[in-house]
Amino acid sequence: MKSHTQYLHIHTPQRYQIVNITPQVEEALAKSGIKEGLCLVNSMHITSSVFINDNESGLHRDFLRWVEELAPYGVDKYQHNLTGEDNGDAHLKRTLMGREVVVAVTNGRLDFGPWETIFYAEFDGQRNKRVLVKIIGE
Ligand code: ZN
Repeated sequence: MKSHTQYLHIHTPQRYQIVNITPQVEEALAKSGIKEGLCLVNSMHITSSVFINDNESGLHRDFLRWVEELAPYGVDKYQHNLTGEDNGDAHLKRTLMGREVVVAVTNGRLDFGPWETIFYAEFDGQRNKRVLVKIIGE
């Protein structure tokens, strides 16, 4: 079995932002040389997410509004912020949008359903973050 590990470096200009990382994951897969297997993509931070959905900007604004309704930003809203942080909302948003995705690799390609695209969702940005891409197979 072969394996390939790669770290994507992300630094969003905005505190809340959704980034299409599919091209970088496809690059990692090409570099791996793996034709059949599985590709794991996960955020390495507890205030950001990796998810799969449609590449449609209105939907992305809907996602950001939805998580803001469920876990609005607010320094005095969260017990976590008693530690001196202000990102209590970001931890909850991360859990809502998920940590990782796994995509099947078939014939050397990410075996997506129609319109599936991999996104990184940042909830406490403007600093350096990493995404792990791990591909295993033959
Ligand atoms: Zn925190």
